[in-house]
Amino acid sequence: MLLGAIADDFTGATDLCSMLVRGGMRTVQLIGVPKAGSPAPDADAVVVALKSRTAPVRQAVDESLAALHWLQAAGARQFFFKYCSTFDSTDEGNIGPVADALVQALGCGFALACPAFPTNNRTVYLGYLFAGGVLLNESGMENHPLTPMKDANLVRVLSRQTDGTVGLVPFATVDQGAGPVRDAMTRLKEQGRRYAIVDAVTNAHLVSIGAAAAHHTLITGGSGIAMGLPANFRAAGLLPEATDPGALPVLDGATAVLAGSCSRATLAQLGFARDHLPVHEMDPLATPDAAALAETALAWAGGKVGEKPVVIAASAPPDKVAALQARLGRDHAGALIEDAVARVAAGLAERGVRKMVVAGGETSGAVAKQLGVTSLRIGDEIDPGVPWTLASGSGPDMMLALKSGNFGGTDFFLKAFRMLRP
Ligand code: ADP
Repeated sequence: MLLGAIADDFTGATDLCSMLVRGGMRTVQLIGVPKAGSPAPDADAVVVALKSRTAPVRQAVDESLAALHWLQAAGARQFFFKYCSTFDSTDEGNIGPVADALVQALGCGFALACPAFPTNNRTVYLGYLFAGGVLLNESGMENHPLTPMKDANLVRVLSRQTDGTVGLVPFATVDQGAGPVRDAMTRLKEQGRRYAIVDAVTNAHLVSIGAAAAHHTLITGGSGIAMGLPANFRAAGLLPEATDPGALPVLDGATAVLAGSCSRATLAQLGFARDHLPVHEMDPLATPDAAALAETALAWAGGKVGEKPVVIAASAPPDKVAALQARLGRDHAGALIEDAVARVAAGLAERGVRKMVVAGGETSGAVAKQLGVTSLRIGDEIDPGVPWTLASGSGPDMMLALKSGNFGGTDFFLKAFRMLRP
């Protein structure tokens, strides 16, 4: 294992994994901290996905340290702390406290911090984070329900979360390439700074920063900053020129789509699927009971499960979602449907489904948990940010594509299965 990463949420972890596969690293995502002593997967990079972004600080620190210790024991040479490209955090944490704990545990004294991801319109200039071309605190993130970002100056934001000090490597330096960036970070470390916010406006900047950090023990940032890392391992002769790092064996078995996202993109994908595939829509308003909803869906799927995908959806347009939420309350409605979809996933697996697309971030988490999935080997992307994965855990191996609701083109469901045909 060359790179060992700790991600503060599930879909962010997958995003990082896809970036590393694109860079030629065979990558596995683990869900939660593996048991001490459990064997490391055969991969160049391992990303441990936590759910620590908005967890209590102590818990986020403890879980991150547990992940670090496992990755150290598994032999990782460099460590990466992945957070969101919008630096989602509060003055209490969790980016600062987790980074502090990792710096201390690794004894490295210093780490760069760079959430920039220019492809997704996240850029950092003079320490100020821009999202979608405007300052972070004008991007809508200032109203985030859990991590409202009211200050775009990351030097200040991170300073409030750490007892260490935070410096800046400005655009003018970064634009000169890897050497000057390396020198600037060395100077900041010598001055006693614990962190450097590093500006980045283009992918070329990310590549330079990656090269400058080749010998850093710990790197912190969004998935963008991982862009430059595979080349370091290759230059050191540690990473062979991979012909197909996302190659997965294609499993035999039936196919299905499960949708629990009500995002616009997923609703459009379901609309498209209706013209091509058998679709069953759950009716939680008529039957607000997870077991009964799952039973009806599985009875419908019965004889249809096979080579042609069956589609089972709880997804509904905003008025129906609002009606169910008014009746049950928002949390109960969400939990009921996640439970129903998870039961359907288990039922489909029992009926021989081995290739499944799941739409919805929370929905994917619920399905992975129900299926006992602990690890995902990352395959090639179907659409940007959504790879096929080979899932393993307590049940039989399965191919899963876990899609955040708003990701993917209109024909995503058909495209996903087309990709698996020889
Ligand atoms: P996304 O990635 O689009 O945000 P998620 O799966 O994370 O999708 O979230 C969608 C939430 O909406 C889930 O909690 C799901 O259970 C809930 N949900 C799905 N269908 C309905 C519905 N018909 N009425 C109310 N809530 C629903």
